[in-house]
Amino acid sequence: MTLRAAIVGAGGLGGPIALSLGAAGVALAIADHDVVELSNLHRQIQFTADDIGRPKAARLAGVVASRGGTARAVAERWSDATAESIAGDADVVIDASDDPATKFAVVDWAVRSGRCYIIAAALRYGGNLMIGAPGAACYRCLFEGPDEAMNEAPSCADAGVLGPVVGAIGGAAAAFALALVRGERDLAGAILVFDDLRRSGDPRIVRFAPRAGCPACARAPSPLAAPLRVAETS
Ligand SMILES: [Zn+2]
Repeated sequence: MTLRAAIVGAGGLGGPIALSLGAAGVALAIADHDVVELSNLHRQIQFTADDIGRPKAARLAGVVASRGGTARAVAERWSDATAESIAGDADVVIDASDDPATKFAVVDWAVRSGRCYIIAAALRYGGNLMIGAPGAACYRCLFEGPDEAMNEAPSCADAGVLGPVVGAIGGAAAAFALALVRGERDLAGAILVFDDLRRSGDPRIVRFAPRAGCPACARAPSPLAAPLRVAETS
């Protein structure tokens, strides 16, 4: 059985996630509405100067395919209208965008649809990964919604992030995505915080419990009522 992953964002995080999952034989859908810019190249190492002005999703899917992987590109922003076409057949959906509203929209869809998911973020010298699965605490149990601070937090484009940092966080996101689709759920409902990769590669692992009244998972169908969507490797 082919494992399938949807990657939301084909930039600094999406690149290493797609290249490593594609090389591992996972069939990918890569969604990004943007085009490659010169200022992206230092941290989006999947692209070259020849890609400037071209759609990120299609270029990244092309790089995955050139290495023997399977990837389809969706040149659209994640939304309720596009979610099914991007991730409808995915075993795991990975947010690699730098947009808080997109992260919450991915979580809401994944929780509603009973999918595993990873929300990845990188900034300056560190980053974090939220690992989600049906029945475990969700991203909204921890962060209710995109608040003022989140929306005003500097993006990678504004504040800068080192190429090696997105490579490390993206690689870790890919590894945890593989674990999830293989049914390893011990870190589901936890957030892994990499404070400063110049000092330590070990994340702080913060586990939290489902929050009563959470607007996303408190209303989700019980994972006991619906069988978990666990893919098997063959
Ligand atoms: Zn929740």
